[in-house]
Amino acid sequence: MKELSFWRDHFPFETQTTSALPPRCDIAIIGAGLTGLSTALHAARSGASVVVLEQERIGWGASTRNAGMALTGLKLSPEQLVKRYGRERARKFYRASLDALAFVQNLIEHENLACDFHRCGDLCVAYRRSHYQGLIASQKFMREEFEHHTELVSAAEMARELGTKVYHGGLIDPLSAGLHPAKLVAGLARCAHEAGVQMLEATPVEECHRAQKGFELKTSHGMLHAKEVVVATNGYTPAALRHLRRRIIPVGSYIIVTVPLGRALAEELLPTNRMVYDTKNFLFYFRRTPDERLLFGGRTSFTPMRDREAANILRADMLSVFPQLHDIEIEYAWHGNVGFTFDQMPHLGEQNGLHYAMGYGGHGVVMSVYFGYWLAQKLLGADTHAFPFFELQMPARFFYRKRPWFLPLAGAYYRVLDRWF
Ligand SMILES: Cc1cc2nc3c(=O)[nH]c(=O)nc-3n(C[C@H](O)[C@H](O)[C@H](O)COP(=O)(O)OP(=O)(O)OC[C@H]3O[C@@H](n4cnc5c(N)ncnc54)[C@H](O)[C@@H]3O)c2cc1C
Repeated sequence: MKELSFWRDHFPFETQTTSALPPRCDIAIIGAGLTGLSTALHAARSGASVVVLEQERIGWGASTRNAGMALTGLKLSPEQLVKRYGRERARKFYRASLDALAFVQNLIEHENLACDFHRCGDLCVAYRRSHYQGLIASQKFMREEFEHHTELVSAAEMARELGTKVYHGGLIDPLSAGLHPAKLVAGLARCAHEAGVQMLEATPVEECHRAQKGFELKTSHGMLHAKEVVVATNGYTPAALRHLRRRIIPVGSYIIVTVPLGRALAEELLPTNRMVYDTKNFLFYFRRTPDERLLFGGRTSFTPMRDREAANILRADMLSVFPQLHDIEIEYAWHGNVGFTFDQMPHLGEQNGLHYAMGYGGHGVVMSVYFGYWLAQKLLGADTHAFPFFELQMPARFFYRKRPWFLPLAGAYYRVLDRWF
């Protein structure tokens, strides 16, 4: 079994990077995931000199480790959004998630980012019978409050969607899509390079201080003076950036991928080829890969765990859903950090003079690219009033500075909820 991301192994791309750190630039971006690359591309297209600094390799973080589910909506449900922000603001936030999908699809088509993007729809499946009642209520709510149309699948109809009997019905959102994360990262990095962005790998930013007319960044390759700095480190935000670090909670998510199944077995498991996730707190998510494997992910634990150990748990979980895979080998196992925030909303803005975008909470594949675009607009002085997320403040809590010591407690709480409700 390979302990690395299937996507990266399936599409081992090289990026045009440089090892020479320039002495100064207009915009320095810390982190070369989807957020950083999108911000860089859109800022450089308007003439700014942009340098991206990545501690490992381009796309090393969550951006090449995710499941490639380009989903509608946010971490908070439409009902939760309305309850917290009122109908009008909730509609704007939800609308932005749909706009993000359209924006990314348009970018992919316009820039020839061949990344297997397909609007296959997502399927949220009910883990308990009572959860299906919740899906019925959600469908009605989305239709009446957001004019967003989804399709219910009753337990009796589930065989047309999934080759398993464990779920009690589901809800299809036909707008969601699937894509190949490593191909998307590679395509964005190519465009950024062509737009004049200088990208450095193996260049961690160790310190960042205010200086005359900007900031001084201490990196492993020397010092860089930047007029503006963007922090695009999400679930990998280092302790050195303490004002942001105490606002973002890294939570591990784990994935396994089988050997190729062949078209017939893959179609037996997921006949409609959708992006699937269930209604638990410790949720399972799964999909077919472009070469007809099963990708199966889950949280497994709120405390760090070795990939091999997590793979054993996930394999048992996978067999609980698809017992027909009993003799099928697991070829890949890996994990990555999902960036959560205390209010479960994604955020972008300015903190102590540093610009940032992060906290997508498992909905970052398209949101990160869209947030990068809007952050670039802000840096370029464009009117950003139309984007509702600039109004939100990213909350901190007095009890969290560097180490998310409370995660095991949260994990235990959610396990109890999953067991009984
Ligand atoms: C296992 C997993 C599955 C997921 N599945 C989905 C999914 O199916 N759908 C979905 O919408 N979202 C999903 N997500 C979330 C999604 O992948 C992220 O929201 C998105 O990739 C965030 O991109 P980013 O560029 O903000 O952060 P990242 O891609 O994590 O990039 C941050 C980068 O910052 C770099 N960095 C950190 N510190 C420094 C420093 N000091 N100096 C230089 N560089 C630094 C890191 O090396 C890293 O490369 C998943 C995440 C995980 C982990």
